[in-house]
Amino acid sequence: MADLIAFPTISSDSNLEMIEWLGSQLSDLGARTEIFHDESGHKANLFATIGPDTDGGIVLSGHSDVVPVAEQDWTSDPFEMVERDGALFGRGACDMKGFIACAMAMAPVFAARDLKRPVHFAFTYDEEVGCIGGQALVSDLKTRGIAPGIAIIGEPTGMQIIEGHKGCCEYTTHFHGLEGHGSAPDRGVNAAEYAVRYVTRLMELREEMKTRAPRGSRFDPPWTTMNIGGIHGGVAHNVIAGRAEVEWEFRPVTSEDMSYMKEEIAAYVSDTLLPAMRAVDPRADIQTETIGEVAGLEPMAANAARDLVAELTGANGVDVVPFATEAGLFQEMGMDVVVCGPGSIDQAHKADEYVTLDQMSRCLDMLEGLARRLS
Ligand SMILES: [Zn+2]
Repeated sequence: MADLIAFPTISSDSNLEMIEWLGSQLSDLGARTEIFHDESGHKANLFATIGPDTDGGIVLSGHSDVVPVAEQDWTSDPFEMVERDGALFGRGACDMKGFIACAMAMAPVFAARDLKRPVHFAFTYDEEVGCIGGQALVSDLKTRGIAPGIAIIGEPTGMQIIEGHKGCCEYTTHFHGLEGHGSAPDRGVNAAEYAVRYVTRLMELREEMKTRAPRGSRFDPPWTTMNIGGIHGGVAHNVIAGRAEVEWEFRPVTSEDMSYMKEEIAAYVSDTLLPAMRAVDPRADIQTETIGEVAGLEPMAANAARDLVAELTGANGVDVVPFATEAGLFQEMGMDVVVCGPGSIDQAHKADEYVTLDQMSRCLDMLEGLARRLS
């Protein structure tokens, strides 16, 4: 844990040193280890396997990156682990180097057993800035035909079993119109006005989402939500606005809502807004930039990951949470997924982030149980 916290893997910086260090530890234990770099070459995912070369394995998933420490009032150096009062302090202690440390501590145990199903270690980059690494990893696994059966995402849940969370989709939509004099609105294409029509349509869809809430949904609120985070555009009172942009996000409760929202707003753009804009100026355009698109983790009636982790931890309840994780990405691959890890989300992203030793030993117990169960 001290070694992991000492890598200052803030999302804006490289995570390579930590990934290479983890990779060499796992390789030394005989794991089949692969490091997948991003286009820049400064970030990488690690995927390592102990046990047989078969489908249906168990993925232990953690993100390597941490949030920044600037402007935070830390009692001690955030990148030097300190143990006090039965807890380990440092940036990433609960979110989520605590889980990675437990997984690594148990790697020699997995390696020493004759596992009937493989255990995979999946450590990703850039989770905190939109699950970028997780998306890349999932597509690399698909390309290679690797099909694990179960994923445990070790985000801090106090070792409780979480079987659902909403997705999180963030966009900036850019409107390119035609500037002109405010006295002749028909000769221009007013980007600000088209942005308003776009936002109005989004707000209609938001109301419609309330009628689509899944029966028995335990989310709060139970439906897909949408938020307009910002509208910018134009230069002066008497000039037709040539440029505008809308920052918005929505949090889908189902993958159907996710595609419905995207398809409906795209159809409104292509069938209604663009033809009207281009009737005046064929160069007019609307472009939506994806900032982050993370599918939710949909609670499922049958979930082998939930059953397994319940058996290993003795937890007798399952819940849903309001924060997004990489879980939905693995679920989209057809895997059964739960979120379960040491520490509390209340300590995540804050000064003096910590995880208690009690939580760490409960996580180690779960993984030790997993090793027994698989051998
Ligand atoms: Zn996290």
